[in-house]
Amino acid sequence: MYRITKEFHFSASHQLSGLREGHPCARLHGHNYVVVVELAAVELDETGFVRDYHDLAALKRYIDEELDHRHLNDVLGDDGVTAERMAKHFFDWARARWPEVTAVRVSETPRTWAEYRP
Ligand SMILES: [Zn+2]
Repeated sequence: MYRITKEFHFSASHQLSGLREGHPCARLHGHNYVVVVELAAVELDETGFVRDYHDLAALKRYIDEELDHRHLNDVLGDDGVTAERMAKHFFDWARARWPEVTAVRVSETPRTWAEYRP
């Protein structure tokens, strides 16, 4: 099995609901997000790739145009803005375009990751 990843970066704000009173994540705040898309294949294509990294530029465009420097609650809905649900959102978006996608990881801070892997 061959496995590749590509990393994307953006900055945005969010505010989590349903948390206990006083939880810091309930306040409006922002993150420098890191999104890592993982793709895998048993066989390489004729070039020797799982998939050409340049194909994934569409995800960079989506992130730049729809998410970067925005309030994520407005874009993804109040229930969609945890790192876990964002990982699933990016997975669905990417898998619809590239069948080799196997997982997506989203990081909000240097010490935390959330992953969606079916
Ligand atoms: Zn947060």
